[in-house]
Amino acid sequence: MRILVVEDEPTLRAQLIEALRLATHTVEAAGDGETALHLGETEDFDAAILDLGLPVVDGLSVLRGWRAAGRGMPVMILTARGAWHEKVAGMDAGADDYLAKPFHMEELLARLRALLRRLGGQSSAEWQCGPIRLDTKQARALVDGQALTLTSHEFKILSLLMQRPGEVFSRTDLYEHIYPNDSERDSNTIEVFIGRLRRKLPPASIETVRGMGYRLIDTSAAS
Ligand code: CA
Repeated sequence: MRILVVEDEPTLRAQLIEALRLATHTVEAAGDGETALHLGETEDFDAAILDLGLPVVDGLSVLRGWRAAGRGMPVMILTARGAWHEKVAGMDAGADDYLAKPFHMEELLARLRALLRRLGGQSSAEWQCGPIRLDTKQARALVDGQALTLTSHEFKILSLLMQRPGEVFSRTDLYEHIYPNDSERDSNTIEVFIGRLRRKLPPASIETVRGMGYRLIDTSAAS
């Protein structure tokens, strides 16, 4: 998934980026509220982790700005310890969850998984589409119970498609999901990854929608 991290404290920001990348997410980060506001309004993210105490523009204003701009991604706010009023104000401003500092990275990752599940309409840590199962906790994919050997790019593409089975994702969507910072935008490479994924998945799992992109098909539902 594509996650936006907003934290002004450099050490914590680096720890968050590292933990999220290890959990196979694609991460973009901002260290102040103005950058965060701009990124959240102009780019697509599957979720955001937002510190409330930020320089330039404070976190609550960032969150209100995103929501006012129609950005509905799940947002987890990070609050100072004991600042219960911050949590209340944050939830009122449209936050989906909160975590008080200091926190354990495992808890943040577990809460993020829960947020992403709610977003994807998948109700557990394991996502299912026909014979394909995605274990979001262990970052692995299985077909009929057999684990697949996927590269990290292949896993990222499969997890985006599995987030909303049946929905069409353009090559640009997929490309931005795996290379958020690449300005080259050579989305032709996506065809290569899709081709490799197709060879590892049951036949006809990934459908090409001409001129639009790709979608995941529940092959067990075909009549
Ligand atoms: Ca801060």
